[in-house]
Amino acid sequence: MLLDNTKNGFTLKSNFELKKAYFLFRIISNKSLTNIGKKALQIALKLRLPILFLVKRTVFEQFCSGESLDDSFETVQRLYDKNVKSYLSYSVEGLENEKSYDLSLKEVLNSIEFVAKNNIIDFTVFKPTAIANSKILQKVSEKKILDEKENELYGKALERFDTICNLAHKKGVKMLVDAEESWIQDPIDEIVLKMMMKYNKHEAIIYNTAQMYRHDRLNYLNRLKNIAEKEKFFIGIKLVRGAYIEQENKRAIKNNYKSPICDSKNLTDTNFNNGASFILSNLNIFSLFSGTHNEESIYKIIDIMKLNNINKNNSKIWFGQLYGMSDNISFNLANKGFNAIKYLPFGPIKEVIPYLIRRAEENTSVKGQTSRELELIKTELKRRKSI
Ligand SMILES: Cc1cc2nc3c(=O)[nH]c(=O)nc-3n(C[C@H](O)[C@H](O)[C@H](O)COP(=O)(O)OP(=O)(O)OC[C@H]3O[C@@H](n4cnc5c(N)ncnc54)[C@H](O)[C@@H]3O)c2cc1C
Repeated sequence: MLLDNTKNGFTLKSNFELKKAYFLFRIISNKSLTNIGKKALQIALKLRLPILFLVKRTVFEQFCSGESLDDSFETVQRLYDKNVKSYLSYSVEGLENEKSYDLSLKEVLNSIEFVAKNNIIDFTVFKPTAIANSKILQKVSEKKILDEKENELYGKALERFDTICNLAHKKGVKMLVDAEESWIQDPIDEIVLKMMMKYNKHEAIIYNTAQMYRHDRLNYLNRLKNIAEKEKFFIGIKLVRGAYIEQENKRAIKNNYKSPICDSKNLTDTNFNNGASFILSNLNIFSLFSGTHNEESIYKIIDIMKLNNINKNNSKIWFGQLYGMSDNISFNLANKGFNAIKYLPFGPIKEVIPYLIRRAEENTSVKGQTSRELELIKTELKRRKSI
C-alpha cells in the first residue's frame, strides 16, 4: 500500500533520531507516564529547574521546528527537498489579553511576510482565540448583547481578522483559520465567511476549518456552497475531525444539551469522508485542505481523485499532517506527487509547552495512531538493519 513504505516515510530520519522517536512515542503512549511527565515538568518549571534543555532535546525536537521563523527555515528546506511543503505557526497558547492579541497579530503578519518572501511555502495559519477574546466570542455566539467595552473589543478583534486576511490577499499567501470549540465557533464561521466573500473573489486565499466530528458540518458545507454560488466567490476548507471532543461532550452533559459531536467514531469517520467527497465533487467552488492522519480517509480521497481524473498535484487539494507525526503519510504522498504539507509549530520552548502537552495527550488518547507510529518505526529500523 502507498502509505506503508517506511523507507520513504523516514527518509529524513537517522537511526539515532528514529530510536529517539520510538522511545518518545513509547512513553507518551502510556497514560500514567504522560501524566507523571506532565506533573514533573510543571513542578520543575515552577522551581526554575534547568529542565528546558531536556524538553528541547526530546518532545520539542520531535514536534516543533524551532524557536523562531528563521530557526525553522532549515526544517522547511529539508522537507521541501523531499517535495513535502510546510506551513508555520507561532504556537504560543493560553494568553488572554489585548496586549497578547496584538502580539499574536504581529506574529501572524510577520509569518505572512515571511511566506511571501519564500516561494517554497504556500500557506500560513492562525488560531482565532490568539487574536480575539473567547468570552466575547461566546457571548456573540449566544446572541447576548455586548456592553460598550465588549463591543469595542469585539470591533478590535474584527479589525485584526481583516488586517490579517487583507495582507494575506495582498501577498497571495493562503491563510488557514483554525477551528475552536463549538460554543465560540459560530461568530468565527461568520467572520471567516465575510473574509472569504471579500478576499476569495478569484481563488481560495482564506480557508475556514470544518470539524467533521460535529454532526451539523455537512449542512454547513452545503450552506457555504449555496452562498458562494450566489455571491460568486471561492471557498477554502480545512477539513478535520476535531480536537476538542472531551471538552465538547463534558460541557453538553454538564449543561444538559445534546452534544454537537457525532455519536460514535464511525459516524465521525463517515461524516469526514462525506465532507471530503462533497468538496471534491464541487471543486469549481471549493479547495480542500485535508487535515488528517487517518489513512482510510486519505485513500478515499485519492480514489475519488483517480475516479474523476483529478491531477495528483491539483493546486486545490492538499494533505496536511502535524510535524513529528505520520511521516509515512507525508513522505509517501509527496513521493507520488501529491500536495503533502506539514504543520510546523514554532516558538520559545517555554511558551510552546502547552502545545507539546496537547500533542502528548493526543497521542495518549489516539491509541491506534501511536501504535501504528511505533510499528512503522520498528519496521524501518529492522529494514535498515537487514541491508
Ligand atoms: C494539519 C492538521 C490541522 C488541524 N487543525 C485543527 C483545527 O483547526 N481544529 C481542530 O479542532 N482540530 C484540528 N486538527 C486535529 C484534528 O481535528 C484531529 O483531532 C486529529 O487530526 C486526529 O484525527 P484524525 O483524522 O487524524 O484521525 P483519527 O485518529 O481517525 O480520528 C480521531 C478523531 O476522531 C474523532 N473521534 C474519536 N472518538 C470519537 C467518538 N467516540 N465519537 C465521535 N468522534 C470521535 C475525534 O475528532 C478524534 O480526534 C488538525 C489536524 C491536522 C493533522
